[in-house]
Amino acid sequence: MRIANHDGRSLLVIDEQHGVDIAEASNGQFGPTPEAVLQNWDEFTLWAKTLDTAALPTLPIERSLLGSPSPMPRQVIAVGLNYSAHAAESGFDLPDQLPPTFTKFVSSITGPDTDVQLPPGGHTDWEVELVVIIGRAGHCIAEADAWDHVAGLSVGQDLSERISQLQGPAPQFSLGKSFPGFAPIGPWLVTPDDVGNRDDLALGCAIDGEIVQEGRTRDLLFPVAALIARLSATITLLPGDVIFTGTPAGVGVGRTPARFLQPGESLRSWIEGIGELNQRFLVPADPAAGPNLS
Ligand code: ZN
Repeated sequence: MRIANHDGRSLLVIDEQHGVDIAEASNGQFGPTPEAVLQNWDEFTLWAKTLDTAALPTLPIERSLLGSPSPMPRQVIAVGLNYSAHAAESGFDLPDQLPPTFTKFVSSITGPDTDVQLPPGGHTDWEVELVVIIGRAGHCIAEADAWDHVAGLSVGQDLSERISQLQGPAPQFSLGKSFPGFAPIGPWLVTPDDVGNRDDLALGCAIDGEIVQEGRTRDLLFPVAALIARLSATITLLPGDVIFTGTPAGVGVGRTPARFLQPGESLRSWIEGIGELNQRFLVPADPAAGPNLS
């Protein structure tokens, strides 16, 4: 099952061009917003299983109207160094208990296809990531039960401005990764039973057609279930919460020479069985108006 945020309303995706409005199909029991569906996820999925979609009227899906499948999560949890080849290119040791954990502030979330204004300084990097959207609350979730807490999977880009991320006596991961538009998610939520092998999905991204990252989620050091168990040992996970699970090798800062996104470039990011994101990058904001990066 695929659920889209189409212009703020929750849609059951029938095919890439058509969907069923969930609030209308349920006579207002579920939706209309994605948040309302996620807050009632268990009841919603029971109802959706009984639905005869062939008998329902469909709406055309316009990609430009797609928003993040969880547009206003109460928590966004992101982890770094969760693929060994990426940890190596970043010059860090492998995490043993839990990968480094930070947030991407909620205001940075957008839908799948966007224009992104580059911050001044010219060091904005790409990180394609599998995104997990929580459907059932929990604290201290056992690894064996972890997938029961997942509503679905989506594609995410953890866009990262490396100057502010790495400056100062301790890294500023959360700030450097939270400029406007730095957390595109989409194109929809796909339930784990509908994604193929939920523990082994190909993912990648390309700049103007040149592939820069390619990986498989089977190489996650902490796979989805382990990550949920470890994170929920501290944090109570809530319906709608978003987890960015880390990026494979191939980011710009790990290259020699380093490479960063340039104005006019386009970035396409994909995950097998889910779909793709498309970002186009615009000229930097006026440095005088930006943060002091000196
Ligand atoms: Zn990341």
